[in-house]
Amino acid sequence: MVERYREQLLRELPEVDLFLGVDAQLSIVAALRDLINGRERRLLFNSLSGVVGEAPRLLAAPRHRAYVKITEGCDNRCSYCMIPAIRGPLRSRAVEDVTREAAWLERQGVRELSLIAQDLTAFGRDRAGHAELPLLLDALIKATNMPWIRLLYLHPLGVSQALLERLAAEPRLLPYLDIPIQHASDAILKAMNRRYDRAILEHLLANIRAAVPGISLRTTLLVGFPGEKETDVEELIEFIGKNKFDHLGVFAYSNEEGCPSEYFPDQCSEEEKARRVDLVMATQVKISAARQKSYIGQTLDVLVEGVARESDLLLEGRGIHQAPEVDGCIYITDGVANPGDIVRVRIDTAHTYDLAGGIV
Ligand code: SF4
Repeated sequence: MVERYREQLLRELPEVDLFLGVDAQLSIVAALRDLINGRERRLLFNSLSGVVGEAPRLLAAPRHRAYVKITEGCDNRCSYCMIPAIRGPLRSRAVEDVTREAAWLERQGVRELSLIAQDLTAFGRDRAGHAELPLLLDALIKATNMPWIRLLYLHPLGVSQALLERLAAEPRLLPYLDIPIQHASDAILKAMNRRYDRAILEHLLANIRAAVPGISLRTTLLVGFPGEKETDVEELIEFIGKNKFDHLGVFAYSNEEGCPSEYFPDQCSEEEKARRVDLVMATQVKISAARQKSYIGQTLDVLVEGVARESDLLLEGRGIHQAPEVDGCIYITDGVANPGDIVRVRIDTAHTYDLAGGIV
């Protein structure tokens, strides 16, 4: 909001003392001091030159898990997205900066580190000219004993063989990837400016599963894009029925002010968008339920989150195939453990998204 509406916000929200742009975090303390000392309310921007790496952090999530952002900004130009315009071009943190933060988090008790970015696979490209995610993962494995390292948000075109080799060889790099594909119809992918087509996606998914057997895949889809026809939706449903993602989120497209797609013809009605979301989700529910059933009888490593949200009588945790906050959970119906423990749970019950079982 601040990057985008700047002076307008200053004018329209007189009750706000200080507006900070996305790279101005490190200036907060000095800016607050200025305010206390009677300086006027103002807008504060740092140049979009680097990612804050040295900033001290508070753990807002439970102590046993944390997100670490490794880049800021994005150099892609998806036709529906304002992030590059708002957050600026890609800026990667230094490898040592990320490993230092990870080591600090480990000392605080973090056992699951989720790496995040607009696109993890772009890490290093702004600095080195090529992707350095595999190098970063090597460094994290060396610098910490973090038992679970999870990768969230990878652009399909950036998932390299070198990355898959790391995942296959190192058990602490979880066999789980979140790869937002957005769609599977060539026409819509082209209109979205995603730079890949259905054939590339099919090849990629087969390649990932061959390189890392048993890997769990999550994706995100966008339906109701301008110009999307019934046949595009049918193709998408056929694609997800065939390729069976473990987890899938569907969003209804909405116009972002200033994006090219805002001006595309054949905009879809809100009612129709909602219908398409429901159609896709109805397919995924069946896939998910079948997938969940396949865990019955298996014994899984589970990171204990604490007492279950559903009932004080149960514990709740997550398996390797379940990312925090988005993928469902495992209810622990028998046994004792503390938050942050990684225990072995034998699965005896499967629901559509959640599992249940006792500690062995
Ligand atoms: S959708 Fe993601 S990859 Fe595309 S421009 Fe936006 S942030 Fe970048």
